Amino acid sequence: MPGEIDKPLISHHLVDSDGSLAEPPVGALKVGILGSGDFARSLATRLVGSGFSVVVGSRNPKRTAGLFPSSAQVTFQEEAVTSPGIIFVAVFREHYSSLCGLSDQLAGKILVDVSNPTEQEHLRHLESNAEYLASLFPTCTVVKAFNVISAWTLQAGPRDGNRQVPICSDQPEAKRTISEMVHAMGFMPLDMGSLVSAREVEAMPLHLLPAWKVPALLALGLFVCFFAYNFTRDVLQPYVQEGKNKFYKLPVSVVNTTLPCVAYVLLSLVYLPGVLAATLQLRRGTKYHRFPDWLDHWLQHRKQIGLLSFFCAALHALYSFCLPLRRSHRYDLVNLAVKQMLTNKSHLWVEEEVWRMEIYLSLGVLALGTLSLLAITSLPSIANSLNWREFSFVQSTLGFVALVLSTLHTLTYGWTRAFEESRYKFYLPPTFTLTLLVPCVIILAKGLFLLPCFSRRLTKIRRGWEKDGAVKFTLPADSILAEKTSHV
Ligand code: NAP
Repeated sequence: MPGEIDKPLISHHLVDSDGSLAEPPVGALKVGILGSGDFARSLATRLVGSGFSVVVGSRNPKRTAGLFPSSAQVTFQEEAVTSPGIIFVAVFREHYSSLCGLSDQLAGKILVDVSNPTEQEHLRHLESNAEYLASLFPTCTVVKAFNVISAWTLQAGPRDGNRQVPICSDQPEAKRTISEMVHAMGFMPLDMGSLVSAREVEAMPLHLLPAWKVPALLALGLFVCFFAYNFTRDVLQPYVQEGKNKFYKLPVSVVNTTLPCVAYVLLSLVYLPGVLAATLQLRRGTKYHRFPDWLDHWLQHRKQIGLLSFFCAALHALYSFCLPLRRSHRYDLVNLAVKQMLTNKSHLWVEEEVWRMEIYLSLGVLALGTLSLLAITSLPSIANSLNWREFSFVQSTLGFVALVLSTLHTLTYGWTRAFEESRYKFYLPPTFTLTLLVPCVIILAKGLFLLPCFSRRLTKIRRGWEKDGAVKFTLPADSILAEKTSHV
């Protein structure tokens, strides 16, 4: 609808030539606001801009009037609540009781509770702010709305912030009226049911990336472990056993050897739960038993783990580009050249090392490129444009290709180092050998699942067959078709 898109959020006839908001249209719906704080000011601006007539109720209207659009009327609380049928309560919960003197004027009106509790308040009070407000004003209809929208978003307009406005109330008619207002202001109303849901609606702004908490902690934990391990091997061991000061390696070199380890292990943790789920299904001979909770959660967090893996891999690529820029690298190069001259070796060229490096870099670039594809297709806008098979191909098949490429990248990095005694500093094996463990198990398991005895049984299970099931089952003759339609 190009017409809708072109429509400005604040209509031109509401804006004066000097840019300020002009008088609302004649017959505009009158709306009251109690409170003159940040939220009240932004709300008034947006309401006026959306064609509503606004009256603000303040304890000190003289002081606050200048902060509101000129077309909004700022007056005492008692006067502000007399004519409008809808009143926004833009004050904090602890001040609700100070409004009780207005009960008679507010009777029969719609009160919109926009408040947000703090985390402590949310835990302390069992009843939501909106339910508390409803208990103080039993003759009013309370609607919970707009609490998830910040004062900044209200002022800047919905284009720059969250568009959804969850609404709940015990009165469907009042909910419908507020939903229409939400629409008129350029937001999307989301019906959350009765006022009992207000607690859930009030908890929404308290969440801090809930789906990312465990994956982020996992990534951080892996980073700390690998960093400590690399520090012990690359910095502490030369210092303790050879007296060499290599602490300068901490900011770049050690971080750059840690990041790929984290990225690689995280990537393998994206595919490990799938292998465990398939193993469980094979063992139980059915897909109708619930997975244990921990496996369920793990399966649900694969996208976040994969994106964190991509993030670490991208950082590793950036750090690797910066390695030659370091002063220590330049000194090392010059020292090597001097050493070459002193020993009269004019041509330094180790064919095997040259090949190893070429292959290693190429595999790393390919792995990062494939991971980028996975990351892009996990964006909702891109994922929505793919059908299930395309999405599954990218996330499952290409994801596994990324894991294989990363494994080859790691193996070419290690080359023969795992077999050299000098690499076992403090008797600790080289870091890359540790990171290879989980991915190699996954690649081996995936290979095993391709064997006809396992793949046929897995395909049957995923199409509904049960080991002890009463229902007789025959796999379709076209087993390739069966493979293509079965998913975990
Ligand atoms: P604020 O700037 O502190 O404003 C609160 C207003 O409450 C004051 O300006 C005051 O206006 C009024 N008030 C009425 N009775 C009061 C009393 N007894 N004691 C003190 N003040 C009294 O707070 P705000 O940021 O606008 O937030 C207002 C409400 O909106 C809160 O419930 C908040 O959770 C909610 N909210 C805010 C945001 C945001 O981004 N700021 C976002 C979502 C929801 P008068 O002095 O003129 O009476």
